[in-house]
Amino acid sequence: MPASPTHAVPTVPLLINGEFVQSRSTQWREVRNPATQEVLARVPLATADEVNAAVDAAKTAFKTWRVAPIGVRARIFLKYQQLIRENIKDIAAVLTAEQGKTLADAEGDVFRGLEVVEHAANIGNLQLGELANNVASGVDTYTVLQPLGVCAGITPFNFPAMIPLWMFPMAIACGNTFVLKPSEQDPLSTMKLVELALQAGIPPGVLNVVHGAQDVVNALCDHPDIKAISFVGSTKVGTHVYQRATLAGKRAQCMMGAKNHVVVLPDAPKEQTLNALVGAGFGAAGQRCMASSVVVFVGESAQWIPELAQRALTLKVNAGHEPGTDVGPVISTSAKARILGLIEQGIAEGATLELDGRQATVPGYEQGNFIAPTLFSGVKPGMAVYEQEIFGPVLCTMTVDTLDEAIALINANPNGNGTGLFTRSGNAARKFQEDIDVGQVGINVPIPVPVPIFSFTGSRGSKLGDLGPYGKQVVMFYTQTKTITERWFDEAAEPAGVNTTINLR
Ligand code: NAD
Repeated sequence: MPASPTHAVPTVPLLINGEFVQSRSTQWREVRNPATQEVLARVPLATADEVNAAVDAAKTAFKTWRVAPIGVRARIFLKYQQLIRENIKDIAAVLTAEQGKTLADAEGDVFRGLEVVEHAANIGNLQLGELANNVASGVDTYTVLQPLGVCAGITPFNFPAMIPLWMFPMAIACGNTFVLKPSEQDPLSTMKLVELALQAGIPPGVLNVVHGAQDVVNALCDHPDIKAISFVGSTKVGTHVYQRATLAGKRAQCMMGAKNHVVVLPDAPKEQTLNALVGAGFGAAGQRCMASSVVVFVGESAQWIPELAQRALTLKVNAGHEPGTDVGPVISTSAKARILGLIEQGIAEGATLELDGRQATVPGYEQGNFIAPTLFSGVKPGMAVYEQEIFGPVLCTMTVDTLDEAIALINANPNGNGTGLFTRSGNAARKFQEDIDVGQVGINVPIPVPVPIFSFTGSRGSKLGDLGPYGKQVVMFYTQTKTITERWFDEAAEPAGVNTTINLR
């Protein structure tokens, strides 16, 4: 598509050492409204020098930020949460314009990130070491959780508020400095949050932002002054980032792709279950890593499939800012083409198309990347619609005879991000929770994204690295434990003499 006249379109700045600066890059991408194709901004692919300048600023700022008192760090995030609250509607409007999701869901995107900021304000209680008194006579041992240095974050397009807020607030609250690389597809709402972070008092160099794609991500993975990388995005890119960053000696946590199965037992409350399936399957146009993408009906519950299709048909497809919209556009024309291709493949491979959303047209938004809710039944392992993450408003359904079969199916799938079970049976729920090998489990909860007093998890193909975002785990990820064994001599006592053993005396 030809570039729009550059004078008419705002450019997205970099943030280096507390200053918003224009990139000198010759390579730029357009940020488009997915409902209209309007070019909202141009975003640079930062140069190698700009990436180095951002890392240098963060490295210099670390010298002072690493010893910033707990109260100083906590109060910045207290102020930050207040600023986000005051601006949530403005941020959501920008987010809807660039990403496509409904305004209500965009507010949810900001709100789930805001919860992490509130958690970061509690850093004094989170970054505590341990102490054991008298590990030997007159000897104590204690640990301190010290910041690592410069950390970097690489984020996906689907939650441009929540996921950056998973990363830099907790990293900075722990005493690190940060270089953020937002999604180049929708960096505008992220930049609104970055502006507010500076207003909240984050000092120059403590938070930096570079834009870009593959080259910038590789430069961050390779940079010798970056100690840890947090990544959220697809499995392919996340695996590459994990391998490249860890090979360069960094800590890495990579939260990746998904295929989230929801199991429905015949005893489940039907109304609530069908509503939950429709919301979790088609909300955000299916572009959530925790979206329900496969419903596994057990036994007689398979009879509910026509009703599920009917209910999905009532969802209103429109631009995200229009009142009453349930399903907005997908992020780009190429994402739409990929999703339509997978629907074609599903049909060709023998799945039954119960609801066909391919011809969605939205009056007034004829150029938008719309796909209406699409439902398949008779999906089987081996079909592309089952094996690949569709990341669109396409829900696959399968049928099995028993809960054991459903559990075996899910555990055989390479992904392990989220799953759910709908039932009235505590016994079945407990069995499911015990036997399933998936990070996030919902019992009658369709999208079980944990609140920040817990950590986001994920197992098998959905996650690389041991420690997840936010919660207790991320404090361990963003700090290095130092163990101090300490004695103060009682000089009035008789000296103990030379100890040539390993034993503490
Ligand atoms: P993506 O992997 O295409 O992009 C993620 C980031 O990687 C972006 O910042 C992008 O610029 C960068 N990138 C893209 N291609 C690259 C390359 N070849 N080399 C290096 N860097 C590259 O992901 P996306 O399409 O933006 O997001 C959707 C994906 O993210 C889905 O797979 C979804 O499941 C996943 N996701 C996972 C979670 C989770 O917590 N597990 C949360 C949200 C999204």
